[in-house]
Amino acid sequence: MTSGGPVFITKPSLPPLAEIIPLLEEIWNSRMLSNNGPLVQRFEAALARYLGVEHLSLVANATVGLMVALRHAAVAGGEVITTPFSFVATAHAITWAGATPVFGDIDPGTLNLDPERVERAITPRTRAIMPVHTFGIPCDVAAFQDLSRRYGIPVIYDAAHAFAVSDAGGSVLQWGDMSVLSLHATKVFNTFEGGAIISRDRDTKRAVDRLSNFGITDEAHVDTIGLNAKMSEINAAIGLTQLNHIDDMIRARGIVAQRYMDGLRNVNGVRCVCPPCGSGQNHYAFPILVGRDYGMNRDALLERLKAHDIHARRYFYPLISDMPMYRDLPSAHAGFLPVARQITSQILCLPLYPDLDPARQQTIIDLVIQGQADIGPDRQNSRFDVEYLARIAS
Ligand SMILES: *Cc1c(COP(=O)(O)O)cnc(C)c1O
Repeated sequence: MTSGGPVFITKPSLPPLAEIIPLLEEIWNSRMLSNNGPLVQRFEAALARYLGVEHLSLVANATVGLMVALRHAAVAGGEVITTPFSFVATAHAITWAGATPVFGDIDPGTLNLDPERVERAITPRTRAIMPVHTFGIPCDVAAFQDLSRRYGIPVIYDAAHAFAVSDAGGSVLQWGDMSVLSLHATKVFNTFEGGAIISRDRDTKRAVDRLSNFGITDEAHVDTIGLNAKMSEINAAIGLTQLNHIDDMIRARGIVAQRYMDGLRNVNGVRCVCPPCGSGQNHYAFPILVGRDYGMNRDALLERLKAHDIHARRYFYPLISDMPMYRDLPSAHAGFLPVARQITSQILCLPLYPDLDPARQQTIIDLVIQGQADIGPDRQNSRFDVEYLARIAS
């Protein structure tokens, strides 16, 4: 039995308190607390520059950001095709925007919405496609762009996990009509609560900004039914100081992820769902799949870790399509989602944050290794990693 206190799935990163104080003094002096104040404007520009995107709008959180984006796409009364393997906010935002989620199955390599399954689900009622870059692993963005062009349907990415994720072509946030980042406490980059909408062009940003501010155009005109999705000056102050440290945080996450990769790569029955460590990744999570050829099932491993005060999490279990408000939808039918169903029964996210204690991490690795069935080296599943790495690299 090792000691060292509980290890939770994540631990929010905070900048040094002293760096925030001058910005708080600015707020106290200006008495500008919200409504597109000076710090929100500064943070908006700085964040866009950091992420390498042109049109970025800060919002109060990703959930309202998704609602605003979907509202701009006029989805009400129609259907939005999305993944059942996500955090529940993905489908809830669709429902709050007045549309019905239609669930498509996922790709077993990336765990993201499968464009082929999406194409089969398109109907005359489809108003948008909402894929998720799950765990910061990029979707097949080119395939979704192709669908969007051929069917004339907008693509709105739930990019809650995709902070600073890029490929050879630059930020993945440039794809689609809009992408929505979460800046929540538990994400890679946080402003306590917060979010950002990345728009394809200036007009979209302008419309999104208006929708986030009650639909107000100017003092005398309200032109659309907006809501209040504004970020406050306090959250922007946190964001500005977090930006000074984010590169170090992501680098530290990469080191933790690499230690898991090295420790778990050859465990029988465990597949690491991890793109190659290095540039372009944010190492938001370390998901593993606990296969049938492991020595115990996923829930038994979860309990085994818990007995050592290590709190891994089943992200995402249950599927959104199994939740009571969605399970009666035709697309929620178990037979339509075989991959998602298998993944949700095998997925386990291991604790990952920049200052995870290496000794505690080694305990986690040892516990996972000890749980494997002894079935000989030729059954090792590193093959999966190789296939997966090839897919990501291509
Ligand atoms: C966290 C999360 C959200 C919601 O983000 P908030 O900023 O907390 O509203 C939406 N979608 C996914 C996939 C998430 O993980």
